[in-house]
Amino acid sequence: MNAAATTHHTNCLRCGRKLTSAKSTATGYGPTCTRKVKAAAKAEIVAQYKPHQVAKAEELIEQGALIPLRTGIYLAPSADGTRTYKAHRTACSCPAGIKGLHPCKHRIAAHILSLAA
Ligand SMILES: [Zn+2]
Ligand SMILES: [Zn+2]
Repeated sequence: MNAAATTHHTNCLRCGRKLTSAKSTATGYGPTCTRKVKAAAKAEIVAQYKPHQVAKAEELIEQGALIPLRTGIYLAPSADGTRTYKAHRTACSCPAGIKGLHPCKHRIAAHILSLAA
């Protein structure tokens, strides 16, 4: 064990089993639990939002468009890139978010990212 390593988990955060690979000790989950945590996050998202909205949110994440500001809060660019919105899973400063009738893609993306963290 290298005591100088930065974040280092010795046991899985979910099941408590000893972690062996470098990737697992960095994330804190074994390979099986990583899959389960991701699947649980996906299930929670799919249960709450419409599929086309989830697809738009995933697109934003894949583009690396959301910048973490502080815990749970992300900066999201407007479609034309001239403005930046502040998004949290419960609120967003974009026009659709302010109306608040439906969760906007920024909110869904912030929700997905906060679950994956
Ligand atoms: Zn585990
Ligand atoms: Zn928004």
